[in-house]
Amino acid sequence: MPKLPSFSEARSIVLEHAQKLQPPDIEILELPASLGRVLAEPISADRDFPPFNRATRDGYALRAAHLSKLPARVAVVGEIRAGAKPAESARALNSGEAVEIMTGAPVPPGADAVVMVEHTERHGEWVTMQRSVVAGENIVLRGTECAAGNLLLKPGTRLGPEQLAVLAATGHSTVRVFQRPRVAVLSTGDEVVDVAAAPGPNEIRNSNAYALAAQIQGAGAAAAILPIAPDEPEQLRKLIQEGLACDLLLLSGGVSMGKHDLVEAALGDLGAEFFFTGAQIQPGKPIVFGRAPRTGSPGQATYFFGLPGNPISTMVCFELFARAALESLSGSQPSRLRTAMARLKQDMKVKTGLTRFLPAVISGEFDEAEVEIVKWQGSGDIAAAAQGNCWLVVPPDREILKSGDAVNVLLR
Ligand code: AMP
Ligand code: MG
Repeated sequence: MPKLPSFSEARSIVLEHAQKLQPPDIEILELPASLGRVLAEPISADRDFPPFNRATRDGYALRAAHLSKLPARVAVVGEIRAGAKPAESARALNSGEAVEIMTGAPVPPGADAVVMVEHTERHGEWVTMQRSVVAGENIVLRGTECAAGNLLLKPGTRLGPEQLAVLAATGHSTVRVFQRPRVAVLSTGDEVVDVAAAPGPNEIRNSNAYALAAQIQGAGAAAAILPIAPDEPEQLRKLIQEGLACDLLLLSGGVSMGKHDLVEAALGDLGAEFFFTGAQIQPGKPIVFGRAPRTGSPGQATYFFGLPGNPISTMVCFELFARAALESLSGSQPSRLRTAMARLKQDMKVKTGLTRFLPAVISGEFDEAEVEIVKWQGSGDIAAAAQGNCWLVVPPDREILKSGDAVNVLLR
């Protein structure tokens, strides 16, 4: 049997294919509804940012060169508040004069610095400055954040709160975004029953479909949950074919070496091409990745992941591989895995050879981050996964890990 790809080899294969994926069609959304979606148009500054020389502190605006000897007694000749009329902010200042100014207010042309109110003492129409300033201090000059006409957001940018702020600031009450890709979720297994059904003594409820649908939704895509496929070739093939009409197909179960693991064969019957069938990871070793002719669209292909049915394998493999493909299908670049460093809270011994992703709890912030694995019964243990808040990553060449070691975690 050929050697299975390592975790990083498998991830590279997925990323390479992800680059070839086409973004979906475009739609126009109201600004608040665009959160989590991918921008399909360039966003440029419609005016200078900031649009005027903006005071960044409450205090007194003056010309820095006018403040030579300290403490300096200066006449307060006016007040400029945020939103002041242009006529109010247009004033000139002579030596020995200042205007009281507020954060966010336009600095008058006669001033080039703001002395913070904390460094002053006010006596009626006069103010005493205890500190000097240099020209430009506590002012952001017009157009220095972004000049009118310059690009602020590129197409392909995922829209988070920061990007929504830019859209709002540039007057976009609606925005052109890529449509959400549709992801088919096909759970397989004779023992798997729907969440609403009463399971027989040897049956289990379909948790994978719901975990996957949540992950898909979290990645800004739409999940289409198909009926559960039994371990029977004909019905399995029919449902796979249905799933291959979507932009991506995620299968759970049926990819191991068992006699009733029929997914690979069914995909093969439908003309699938496989890029890997298994990777040196745990959980998730039997994962398969490939593409097959797209149902109803001659000449096109739908990519698929055959995820091992054990719930933790399914969830971890989605994070490690499927998310990247989904991001490309959404019109953005695959993002880096969200990882953090933490100190291990315990000694551990594992077998080498596989990259492992173990349910764990990370606590503490910055340099104080610590991580502890959740006791688990293997990759079927959803109770353990639900207690964790991250996955401890154990590299394939580490047999012994010691309490206090710096380790990587995959964040959720
Ligand atoms: P398989 O990958 O089909 O060999 O399944 C591995 C394990 O995952 C078995 O214990 C299955 O019962 C379990 N499993 C498979 N599919 C699901 C599912 N949709 N939800 C929860 N557990 C599942
Ligand atoms: Mg099965």
